[in-house]
Amino acid sequence: MRALTWHGTRDVRVETVPDPVIQEPTDAIIKVTSSGLCGSDLHLYEVLGPFMTEGDILGHEPIGIVEDVGSAVDLKVGDRVVVPFQIACGSCEMCDLGLQTQCETTQVRDQGMGAALYGYTKLYGSVPGAQAEYLRVPRADYNPIKVPDGPADDRFLYLSDVLPTAWQAVEYAAIPAGGSVVVLGAGPIGDMACRIAAHRGHHVIAVDLVPERLARVRKFGAETIDLRDLEGHEVADMIRNVTEGRGPDAVIDAVGMEAHGSPSATVAQRLAAMLPDRIAERMMHTAGVDRLASLHAAVDIVRRGGTISIVGVYGGAADPMPMLTMFDKQVQLRMGQANVRRWVDDILPFLTDDDPLGVDSFASHRMPLEDAPYAYEIFQAKKDGACKIVFSL
Ligand code: NAD
Ligand code: ZN
Ligand code: ZN
Repeated sequence: MRALTWHGTRDVRVETVPDPVIQEPTDAIIKVTSSGLCGSDLHLYEVLGPFMTEGDILGHEPIGIVEDVGSAVDLKVGDRVVVPFQIACGSCEMCDLGLQTQCETTQVRDQGMGAALYGYTKLYGSVPGAQAEYLRVPRADYNPIKVPDGPADDRFLYLSDVLPTAWQAVEYAAIPAGGSVVVLGAGPIGDMACRIAAHRGHHVIAVDLVPERLARVRKFGAETIDLRDLEGHEVADMIRNVTEGRGPDAVIDAVGMEAHGSPSATVAQRLAAMLPDRIAERMMHTAGVDRLASLHAAVDIVRRGGTISIVGVYGGAADPMPMLTMFDKQVQLRMGQANVRRWVDDILPFLTDDDPLGVDSFASHRMPLEDAPYAYEIFQAKKDGACKIVFSL
C-alpha cells in the first residue's frame, strides 16, 4: 500500500510499504478513505525527531471502510467507521472514568506514557499511522465509531480528533454560563474550540497571527486579535479592556509547544539527537521559555481564579512555569489529550445537515495522499490559507 513515512526533520515521503494484517482477534483492518493532517503531526515533522524511527507511518485521523476483522470484533466488512486517535480498551478503571487517554491496558509502560496513539513515536507505542491506504486497528472491539453511509467523509472525520479535542478543551475550560473565553491559537483545534464555545453562548476572543485563520473563526461569532497588529500593546491588556478589566473566565491554550522551528527548538533537537532516548527526553525541555510563550500568555491573561485549559501539546519534561503568579492568581489548570470516546455521544447530535459547527466545509484543503509532503510544508508554514488539510485516498 501507499503510506506517508517519516525520514527526518521536515522529510516525509509517500512510499510503498507492506499492507497491514490482522494480528489479534480484536484487530480490524480499515481501508482509509480520508485522513486528516494535524498540528500534532507538525511536532513530529519539526521537533520530536529523536523519538521517531525512519520509516514510521504518520497520521491519526482516519475514516474508512472495514476491510477485515478479527474473530472478537463485532464490526462487519463494509461498515463505515471513524477511528479515534488513541487506542483504549474500554473496560479498565481509567476507561470507566472516561479517561481513555490513560487506559491501563494499552498504556505504553516502558516509556511511562498513557494510552498508545497511532503514528506518534515510540513514546506512544510505535503504532503505524493512518496517513495510509490501510490501517490496522487494534482493540477494534471498542474504539471504532460506526457512522452512517451517505454524507461525505468530512461530516464524521473530525470525530477522530478535532471535535472531541476541541470539545474537551471547552469542557475543561469550565466557562460559566454567558462567560468569556480567550482561545490562543486559531489552528484547526482552536478554531473548532471557538465554534463550540460560541455555539454555547460564550463571549469568545481568538488570538493568532495568521489572518486567514482569524477570518474563519469570525464567521462563527468570535472576536479576534491578530498578534501582529499589537504595535507594542500587551495582548493581556487588550483583552482586559474587553473583559471588564479582569480578564476572561477561561483561556484555552490551543498552541502548545513551539512547532514552527524556533531556533531554540532546533537547538534542543540537535542536542537530543546525540543522546540516549531517556536522557534525550529530559533534554527536550531545555529549549527555554519561548517554547512556553503561549502558556505564559494564558497565565497572564486569565482572570484571577479562572481556568486555563491546555489542549496544545507540551512535550518538555521540566519546563519552567511562573509558579508565583499561578499560585497567587489561584489559576485552575486542566490539560491533556482528548479522551475521544468519552465525548462522541455528546458531539454526534451536532453532525447534521444544518451543520452548526461547520464541519462539512472545515477542511481548507483536500489533496491526494501523494501530495502529503507538500501538505506538510504549507500547513507548517501556514501558507496558501492552509488550516485543516485532509487527504483523500
Ligand atoms: P496548529 O499547530 O496549526 O495551530 C496552532 C496555531 O497557533 C497556529 O494557527 C499558530 O499560528 C498559532 N500560534 C502560534 N504561536 C502563537 C502564539 N504565541 N499566540 C497565539 N497563537 C499562536 O494546529 P492544530 O491542529 O490546531 O494544533 C494545535 C495544538 O493542539 C498542537 O499543539 C497540537 O499538537 C494540539 N493537539 C492536541 C490534541 C489533544 O488531544 N490535546 C489533539 C490534537 C492536537
Ligand atoms: Zn490530530
Ligand atoms: Zn482501558
